[in-house]
Amino acid sequence: MNDYSFERLLETVKKKIPNINEDRLKKAYELSKKLHEGQVRECKNHLPYFTHPYEVALILSEMNVDEETIISGLLHDTVEDTDYTIEEIEKEFGKTVATIVNGVTKIDLLPQMTKEAADIENMRKLFISMAKDLRVVFVKLADRLHNMRTLDDLPKEKRERKAKETLDIYAPLAHRLGINFIKWELEDRSFKNLYPEKYQEIKSMVTKKLSKRKANLEYYRTKIEKFLKNYNIRIYGRIKHFWSIYNKLVNKEKDFNDIYDLTGIRILTKSKADCYAILGEIHTLYKPISGRFKDYIATPKSNGYQSLHTTVITEMGEPLEIQIRTEEMENVANYGIAAHWVYKARSKSIKKELKWIGILLDWQRDISRNLEFDEIFVFTPRGNVISLPKGSIPIDFAYRIHSYIGNHCSGAKINGNMVPLNYRLKDGDVVEIIVDKNMKGPSIDWLKFVKTSGARAKIRRFLKDNLKDSLIEKGKNDFDSYCKNKNINITKKEIKKLKDKFDIKEDEEFFFKIGEGSLLLSKIFKDLEPIEEKEIKLVKQKAVKGKVLVEGNENFETKMAKCCNPIPYDDIIGYVTLSGYISIHKKNCKNIQSLSKDRFVKVRWANAEGTNYYANIDIEAVNSSGMLNKVIELVNNEKLNLSGISTKEFDDTIRILLKVEVKNSEQADTLVKKIKTIDGVFYSIRY
Ligand code: MN
Repeated sequence: MNDYSFERLLETVKKKIPNINEDRLKKAYELSKKLHEGQVRECKNHLPYFTHPYEVALILSEMNVDEETIISGLLHDTVEDTDYTIEEIEKEFGKTVATIVNGVTKIDLLPQMTKEAADIENMRKLFISMAKDLRVVFVKLADRLHNMRTLDDLPKEKRERKAKETLDIYAPLAHRLGINFIKWELEDRSFKNLYPEKYQEIKSMVTKKLSKRKANLEYYRTKIEKFLKNYNIRIYGRIKHFWSIYNKLVNKEKDFNDIYDLTGIRILTKSKADCYAILGEIHTLYKPISGRFKDYIATPKSNGYQSLHTTVITEMGEPLEIQIRTEEMENVANYGIAAHWVYKARSKSIKKELKWIGILLDWQRDISRNLEFDEIFVFTPRGNVISLPKGSIPIDFAYRIHSYIGNHCSGAKINGNMVPLNYRLKDGDVVEIIVDKNMKGPSIDWLKFVKTSGARAKIRRFLKDNLKDSLIEKGKNDFDSYCKNKNINITKKEIKKLKDKFDIKEDEEFFFKIGEGSLLLSKIFKDLEPIEEKEIKLVKQKAVKGKVLVEGNENFETKMAKCCNPIPYDDIIGYVTLSGYISIHKKNCKNIQSLSKDRFVKVRWANAEGTNYYANIDIEAVNSSGMLNKVIELVNNEKLNLSGISTKEFDDTIRILLKVEVKNSEQADTLVKKIKTIDGVFYSIRY
């Protein structure tokens, strides 16, 4: 059993951070121990859970990170696994620790990744964008490394999933950040769990080969060390990592015996000049293999790695790879960006030398900037990652999955909760679309909210294919009410003029474009002279549809006004429109109060049964998390169809607008009354 004492932790941390605040570290140590008390790790010997954050803190201290990161490591699982809150962490340890722990927790709560390769790059980007502070990534890497070290007792399936995720996400991140000691260990441990036979095969091949080469390697090491006695160097033999050997075998289809750098020699020097001098010396000692020399000092790798690599032929006729670099470069090779994390905070003068850190930080900023301004990542319930432009709503998501899903999208759940369809998606949301097979298709209002051009095009397409007639009718309607409101009288001749202005031939197309919203009425009537008023002739209805009867003249065409949406058996009145039909308003509708009285006609309800009407309900309530759900639940309990919902949140209150399908005003009024009885609802009215 390992020693999990504070003393061991302090001693280890102090090697890297001599001036660490001991009281603060102790406070974090004690708190983590207390909070995780009674919890055990998922492994055979049921170690106390606290051993995990403790080991994570130790790994972090090896990475040369700062005090804030070590403390965050100790506390990284407290918010997710105990009752402790981010607010409490901030109060006790300050904002930085709270931010780091919060970032780690958020990433932990992301859904499981799927196997699809297309998701992996998105997943990495999401990871970076959610991390915000690179120290979050450091803690996650240390966390994952310890989890991989303690994977052995888990069921096979879980081990494989973790290993795959580690190879897909964590090892490349460690590589990107240049933290190679973590990258190598993550890779080899994943390799072992994912392909146990191949791992064993390579391991035994390497061991066999090694036992033969070990003596040789020691011989070369001593010989080179002696040869370079005038230089201040450290020299040692090295063995390549199993996963990289395996990759070389697979990718380059090389034979095991062709891999020169299975073992090699590494020489660490004090200065860059020494590196090149030593390279020259080595090449006088042994003949280099042409094409095998690489100068990563002049041209560092993108993660900052610097070194000289050369392969020579020894007196025993075998190839030997030699790496030459400074101690500083070695540090970077192992710890990458983390190697300079502390220095960077301490001194700005070092900054110049560490250009590549700037490159890396830019890389992170780049990703997060792009994400911040135009890309978000959300999940399907199965865990696929979908990227959408910022500001996208569930309808965009639905159309991205499939046109059918979009056209039949009747609602959406985010992370398990019902939301309005114009909800703005956030990074990491799990989006579930509720599909209603009976839905007739997308609502024209969606065009106002969707963000993606794909969704917009598909909605337009559907409307054109399926709703042509009703959109033409809507266009006529909109056209009429616009004229009515602006007191414009218009003749057929003038309509033709308008069509010509927009290069439209058919009436149908003209009104369709208005109905669908691509031709704006304000644009049509811009600069138009007021038109002289003309007597209106009522159009006779062709067949009696008769939901509403006009007194005295029962055959006239009637339409429900969109503004007040009358439903049986509201108090209604008819208004004779310029197009000649009668628009039915509620008697108290605000829009008709100012209209000329002589165009009003008396109307009454008839034959109204058997058709559905839409009731609009306006609700204001306390802005509590469950409020929207309660309202939606109530509509469901009343067995009514919700056909639209939008919300606006203020600090303490939420305004909810519902569109509900009802048979008559009685149903609507009952619903309104019931909504009023929900705790926290201030008012609920039809409008
Ligand atoms: Mn953890």
